[in-house]
Amino acid sequence: MNAPNLIILGPQGSGKTTQAELLAKKFGFALLGAGDVLREIAQEDTVLGRSVRRTINVEGRLVAPELISKVIQEKVGTVPKDQGLILDGYPRSLAQFELFKKFWPRAARGDYQVVFIELPDEEAVNRLTKRVRPDDTPAAIRTRLQSFYAETMPMIRAMEADGQMPHIDGAQPIEEVHRKIVANLNFP
Ligand code: AMP
Repeated sequence: MNAPNLIILGPQGSGKTTQAELLAKKFGFALLGAGDVLREIAQEDTVLGRSVRRTINVEGRLVAPELISKVIQEKVGTVPKDQGLILDGYPRSLAQFELFKKFWPRAARGDYQVVFIELPDEEAVNRLTKRVRPDDTPAAIRTRLQSFYAETMPMIRAMEADGQMPHIDGAQPIEEVHRKIVANLNFP
């Protein structure tokens, strides 16, 4: 049997990375965070590094779907087949989902499950303004929320039409969100 694969979705501030980390630790899964991977690239003093840095920190926009898909595809290829995998922050748009669906079968890791952590905007903004990341300026927070509704929500609808997607209330305490995710997913 294949090891489980999980895509964790939710707006910024929903706690999806916190939850992804808890799950990775509890089950020994590999965790691929799109934002983390991009922040690593952004540190490089190269044309690509500078361009990614500008997109993330100054503009708060998404990097090109081909770029993030290629990077994630490469990283997925490094995860042993018998180890579970969590994707945090990817795919994030219909274009990315299309690219994902092309490369995923080639990774030969079997099916994937999807979970969606929901959170109202006011609470998301509240949480993010308390975080101290260079891209958490009020303008960038607003741009990222708009991008979530404009680009990620249509993809979430498309994924929902493809298969099951439990919705979890992200306004609850971390432990409670974690418990509900585990209860709603099918992990061995
Ligand atoms: P995050 O850590 O998930 O909040 O991501 C931080 C920033 O990285 C985002 O605001 C985007 O600029 C970029 N980013 C993260 N994930 C993706 C993705 N799947 N596609 C494009 N850009 C992304």
